[in-house]
Amino acid sequence: MQPPLSGRLALYVHIPFCESKCPYCDFNTYAGIEPLMPSYVSALAREIEQWGAWLDRPTLASVFFGGGTPSYLPPRDLQRLMGTIRTAFLLPDGAEATLEANPGDCTSDRLLAMHEAGFNRISIGVQSFDDAELTMLGRRHDAARASQAVVEARNAGFENVSIDLMFGLPDQPVATWERSVEQAVRLDTDHLSAYALTLEPGTPLEADVRLGRTPDPDPDLAAEMYLLAQTMLAGAGLQQYEISNWAKQGRESTHNLAYWRSLPYLGVGPGAHSYLYGAGALDRSGVRFANVNPPRAYIERVNAWIANGLLDADAVSTAAATGYCEPVDSRDAMAETMMMGLRLNAGVADASFRERFGEGIAGAFPGPTAECIELGLLEWAGGALRLTEGGRLLGNEAFSRFVGAANTP
Ligand code: SF4
Repeated sequence: MQPPLSGRLALYVHIPFCESKCPYCDFNTYAGIEPLMPSYVSALAREIEQWGAWLDRPTLASVFFGGGTPSYLPPRDLQRLMGTIRTAFLLPDGAEATLEANPGDCTSDRLLAMHEAGFNRISIGVQSFDDAELTMLGRRHDAARASQAVVEARNAGFENVSIDLMFGLPDQPVATWERSVEQAVRLDTDHLSAYALTLEPGTPLEADVRLGRTPDPDPDLAAEMYLLAQTMLAGAGLQQYEISNWAKQGRESTHNLAYWRSLPYLGVGPGAHSYLYGAGALDRSGVRFANVNPPRAYIERVNAWIANGLLDADAVSTAAATGYCEPVDSRDAMAETMMMGLRLNAGVADASFRERFGEGIAGAFPGPTAECIELGLLEWAGGALRLTEGGRLLGNEAFSRFVGAANTP
């Protein structure tokens, strides 16, 4: 029996290698495990092949190599993996294929190789165009290299370039944030993601702040920076389409839209998450699962899976490297659709919600819908329920009401 699958699939490929670990990062990524690269790439190729066969070579809506630092992988490995994907899945011409890149890896020859491998979109982890901030963040590039990376990506043939920036940093004045946004606009980025720094427990930066070695970021200043970015980017022709994302028209990220629209996605590699569900009216729920985190354990699990001939396993929980797996019932799927979809400026279209779940949003969530409208957090617009302008900074207030209602018997 195949796992359930509805429509086109978004494929995420996790690359867990980083040249150095940034002090604020709690992603499933590692520095100093480069000797694992060859066995890792082989295991990843096997997992991709297996999923392609198991799902009967489905059509992909998008491919996204994230991490970690995908650009740190030798270009020949990126080429091999893209070749494996093309064989195992149907990747239509022109489908979005994104590679996350560190500016330090963006030399012209590597960029050319990445483009030749089949990536047509590059997401460059700039974070800041201020050298002092980059040092504080433990980044391995400076501001000049970051700007050069964007220019060289275009020269290598990337017509779709995205930049990541971070705001709300310790000691960050609004003026340096303003200059970073200005520089992103000057570089004519097609897409911009702007995330407030989150102090993740267990990271060195969080410890420094907790122990008073680094000042606590100021949330009021962070809110000011966010509003400033909204104004500056709108003035530059970059439309906000999600709480943290802006794009030129037609340059919205297809891959990330799949997450926000709760469309099916498959993640391969250690720690990668998947969410698959069926197409039928009676099969509105699905299954959510994730691979084990440690790269070594992941490689061993994939190799054992192949060696043991478990290729015809009939449940996702026995897949190559699954660490956890849970069914998603219809009520959970509805809450997730609201929580993710309300992040989008367009909100959640009532018609598509009804098509998937057999009832409209107000019918499924009468209390949260009415309350959030009453509080001015949400509004109906063009048949969709969406955050109001003022509600965008208070999104969690709205999300939690829908999740709470889904968990109430
Ligand atoms: S490069 Fe990115 S993934 Fe790697 S440690 Fe830094 S923030 Fe984390």
